[in-house]
Amino acid sequence: PSAEAGLYTASDQIVLLTQENVESILINSTAAMIVEFYASWCGHCVAFSPTYKALARDIKEFSRNVQDLRHKILDKLETHGEPWPPACPPLEPTSQMEVDVFFETNDVKHLALIFEDATSYVGREVTLDLLQFDSIAVRRVLNTEESLVTKLGVTEFPSCYLYYPGGNFTRLRVDIEARAFYSYALQRLPGVVRSGKPPPVSTELLKNNTEDPWRPFDKFRVYMADLESTLHYSLRVELGAQSVFQGRALTSLKAYISVLAKYFPGRPIVTNLLKDLNSWLQKQTGDRISYEAFKEKLENDAQSPNSTLPDGVRWVGCQGSQPHFRRYPCGVWTLFHVLTVQANSKGSDPQEVLRAMRSYVHNFFGCRECAGHFENMAAETLEQVTSLPTAVLWLWSRHNVVNNRLAGALSEDPQFPKIQWPPPDMCSACHAVKDNGEHTWNLTEVLKFLLTYFSSDRILTDYLE
Ligand code: FAD
Repeated sequence: PSAEAGLYTASDQIVLLTQENVESILINSTAAMIVEFYASWCGHCVAFSPTYKALARDIKEFSRNVQDLRHKILDKLETHGEPWPPACPPLEPTSQMEVDVFFETNDVKHLALIFEDATSYVGREVTLDLLQFDSIAVRRVLNTEESLVTKLGVTEFPSCYLYYPGGNFTRLRVDIEARAFYSYALQRLPGVVRSGKPPPVSTELLKNNTEDPWRPFDKFRVYMADLESTLHYSLRVELGAQSVFQGRALTSLKAYISVLAKYFPGRPIVTNLLKDLNSWLQKQTGDRISYEAFKEKLENDAQSPNSTLPDGVRWVGCQGSQPHFRRYPCGVWTLFHVLTVQANSKGSDPQEVLRAMRSYVHNFFGCRECAGHFENMAAETLEQVTSLPTAVLWLWSRHNVVNNRLAGALSEDPQFPKIQWPPPDMCSACHAVKDNGEHTWNLTEVLKFLLTYFSSDRILTDYLE
């Protein structure tokens, strides 16, 4: 708006743009701005100006961090004056009377009660977090709700209790009494699944869902069988989709095989093959290599008694509850986490593995949409990787960004929900809570955890041929 035009004044929380100040205010501004162009003689503009002023007042008060915004949304929901649509979440505190009859009117398996004082947002935040999940309801109970507080013997605020028909209850055990820990623990209760998703099937039933026999495994470990399966699929199937490598694709292939030869912590027979393949590849001076030539070298090597790569896949930690879940992409993530961790102790160039991964994914990864997403992330932030440990952490945090985007998507295996990883039951020390109650990662602990979790001497060799 122009200062002379008269519909607004400086007291309206609006910046009045004039010929003199327009450049200095808009150019190189660090804030996003909404600019209204209007004419003071226009009847519509006059009628619209009170709305614009109200908007300015409203967003001027908007806070700068996500937590404050979330609290504001909760406040707005709760102070919403008009009748609530039925789908509105139950945010008001509950009482003994309501809890007594809860299971008569609600068809859920679990009722989580979060005891807290009136100023705390944790109960409402967890209620919203769990809203998309079936079989569970969350209610906040104020510390002033004496009968419930006494009945359950609650002395800590906040704290969370699971309440069952008949009045049984038990305290939810978490390492830290905070939103992220409650939400994670509640989402893992039996029967709790994202709405619209089939309930997870037991491993007994899983046996019948895939053509392969189900291989029992430890969810907290990395398996060499997954890594070898990934190599098999990558070298024999995914790369096989190229008829010839030239230009960037050739550079990418060489960089990929080179980091595998340097850092793949495999059985000697497999590392021998990778090293052979690498020295052959680095010797090729032409500007193109056909996949046929690459494959011939690979299979010739694979016939020697002390160098081979098992043919076919045998997924273990990357098994999915259906044939279209997990498997190869799970293997690709695992492989590159392992490689960044190996490079952390053996490498010198902080970006070597990540650059190889970036160009592999960009040039060859079969999921083209994934490749596009990954390339965007790499283009934005890969340059920030300036040390070997930050390379390990970069891949971990980018993987969590992908997990976050895919949580609840069709490609999510209900048996293996996408979570921010590692969850508290895998690495409690990785999680911390700031003074304001917000969740944060303890990066020193996360790094320690990753270096151990993906280390070569912890990789299990079960199910190998
Ligand atoms: P995955 O996400 O594949 O993880 C494999 C294993 O790694 C987990 O089981 C866990 O043990 C561990 N892990 C989980 N999180 C982390 C972490 N933060 N740090 C370290 N280890 C971790 N799918 C899409 O639908 N859209 C996409 O845009 C997309 N982009 C992708 C980009 C890349 C580069 C890759 C490799 C895959 C992408 N995928 C995408 C596939 C998707 O990320 C999963 O790999 C796939 O859905 C299988 O999931 P999963 O449950 O097996 O776990």
